[in-house]
Amino acid sequence: MRAAVFLDRDGTIIEDVGYLDALERLAFFPWAVDAVRALNRSGLAVVVITNQSGVARGYFDEAFVQETHRRMSERFAAGGARIDGYYYCPHHPDGSVPAYRSRCACRKPGRGLIDRAAADLDLDLARSFVVGDKWGDVQLGRAIGARAILVRTGSGAAEERRPVDGVAADTIADNLAAAASWVLQSAAANPR
Ligand SMILES: [Mg+2]
Ligand SMILES: [Zn+2]
Repeated sequence: MRAAVFLDRDGTIIEDVGYLDALERLAFFPWAVDAVRALNRSGLAVVVITNQSGVARGYFDEAFVQETHRRMSERFAAGGARIDGYYYCPHHPDGSVPAYRSRCACRKPGRGLIDRAAADLDLDLARSFVVGDKWGDVQLGRAIGARAILVRTGSGAAEERRPVDGVAADTIADNLAAAASWVLQSAAANPR
C-alpha cells in the first residue's frame, strides 16, 4: 500500500476563481507543478479531491470538470509531474439540477472521495496527508487519520484568522510548495 497526498484543487493547486466554468480562467499557482513533481519523486501517490458543486448548481457539467482535469494533467506532464487520480463531488443538497441534488457522502468534509481513491489506488490513509485551503479539508484529513495541512493561498489566510473549534491543522503552510516540503520531511522523519 502506498501513502498519498490528497490535494484540494481550487485555492490549493490553482487559483480559486469562484466557480471555474471556462478553461480560460484556469490559473495554476506558479509553484504547483514543481511541488507535485517533488511529491511524485518521493513515491507518494498524488490525488486531487475537489468539491465541484457548480455541477449541481447548473453552472457547468461533469464533462467540463473532466476536461479541466485533462488540461491540468497536460500542464503537469509538460513539467514532468503527474496526478495519480482526480476525484470530484458534483453534488450539493441545494442544487438546482435534480440529478445532483443530494446529501451525498462524497462532498468534503465527507470522506467518500478519499475512500474511493483508497480503494482504486490501494492507499494507506494513516500514512497519508491532506492539503487544502479550507478547514473542511483539514477536518477531513483528521477524520481519516492522516496528517492535515492548511495552505494560506485561496481562502486559507482568511480561514487561519477564523479558527474552528476542535479543528487543528498539523501545520499551516504559505502555499503548496511549502506544504510539499513539510510533507516530504514528515514522511521521511516519521514514516508511521
Ligand atoms: Mg479549496
Ligand atoms: Zn458528492
